Amino acid sequence: KYSEMSLEELNSEKEQLTAQYKKWQSKGLKLDMSRGKPSVEQLDLSMPLFDILDGKSLMKCMNGVETRNYGQLEGIVEAQHLFAEIMDCQPEQVIVGGNSSLNMMFDAVSRGYMFGFDGCTPWCKLDRVKWLCPVPGYDRHFAITQHFGFEMINIPMNEDGPDMDVVEGLVAADDTIKGMWCVPKYSNPQGIVYSDEVVRRIANLKPAAKDFRVFWDNAYAVHHLYKEKSKILNILHECEEADNPNLVFEFASTSKITFAGGGIAAIACNHKNREEIKKTLTVQTIGFDKINMLRHARYFADVESVSKHMEKHAKILRPKFELVIKTLERDLAEAGCGSWISPKGGYFITFDAPKGTATRIVDLAAEAGVKLTPAGAPFPYHMDPNDSVIRFAPSLPPIEELEQAAEVFTVCARIAYLEKLIH
Ligand code: PLP
Repeated sequence: KYSEMSLEELNSEKEQLTAQYKKWQSKGLKLDMSRGKPSVEQLDLSMPLFDILDGKSLMKCMNGVETRNYGQLEGIVEAQHLFAEIMDCQPEQVIVGGNSSLNMMFDAVSRGYMFGFDGCTPWCKLDRVKWLCPVPGYDRHFAITQHFGFEMINIPMNEDGPDMDVVEGLVAADDTIKGMWCVPKYSNPQGIVYSDEVVRRIANLKPAAKDFRVFWDNAYAVHHLYKEKSKILNILHECEEADNPNLVFEFASTSKITFAGGGIAAIACNHKNREEIKKTLTVQTIGFDKINMLRHARYFADVESVSKHMEKHAKILRPKFELVIKTLERDLAEAGCGSWISPKGGYFITFDAPKGTATRIVDLAAEAGVKLTPAGAPFPYHMDPNDSVIRFAPSLPPIEELEQAAEVFTVCARIAYLEKLIH
């Protein structure tokens, strides 16, 4: 363990690693571990979608709606069924939208901001609006709430979800807190799955603000890496049970099932919220792209087809995740350098570096040709109070590149830790 070494031992270890680092540097690498995008191989899995509809296909959906024409604001019935399966909710709770769930989240925040929820004052008319942000979290969630000028409050994450003692205390005491981001399954970036207890405590929240909403981003609902599939409770059902039916907006998309940015997205909620959404949506659009909905719904016609398709993704992703984890274990465990969780699904691995070293690690890696997500990115305002969290995205690079990138990374992590211990 580095923390138990003498100064002399630390210096000699550092010298040896610096030599390794220089060797890597001389190779002129250009590797990128920063983007949580599917690889080309994964995108190829969904090419049959293009053959589902041809010039001779029946373009009407099961209730007779013509997909080539205007109408059907909530999306075609088949697509509602598909998302009901993915989100484990009822088809009539679903509104299928365009190509991006993030866009639907932005729109949902906008409605609260411009028109207000449940007859409450629109948030734009309030002096202060606050938002709960479990950290580390998804940078684009935080970008939305920052863009609206909301004050973001960090909520610590435990192994089974956000620290609910903190959340319960805050929402009950402060009616300027209007919302909370959640990625309940295989969270971005830690891969954490919310426990039943956490889901129930969220459903049972007693917020001081009547217009408080939980934004339940179930982006990785079916994105398992292993046969053993993590399950979470159905939040909409739990909210009904808790007599809190208006509390939640749930989101999902097929961005990491079929094509990132070329799939379909959805929001699910109770009847009252849904009617409120439709009041604005019906002014915003005459209807979304029903042809892409039909393509997706026909391709994923039964329950089994989604899970078979996701197994093919897992087969490509699993070796990449395992390679990174194995390299971290091999190079960093004995040195006592940082910690990490092996995710069972999702798109990311989080490395918790020794306090105060994350920025230095990312810089060192960049100088050796390995691009990582900037330190601080998974925090509101890009401020990691401990400067310790680094998010890896192993999906995009080919495995040979990933192998080199992971090795460079562990060299940088050890050098940064040694620098900290020596000074
Ligand atoms: N939500 C989470 C948690 C994500 O990680 C991502 C993409 O990385 C998205 C949403 C984006 O989804 P979409 O492509 O449907 O906008």
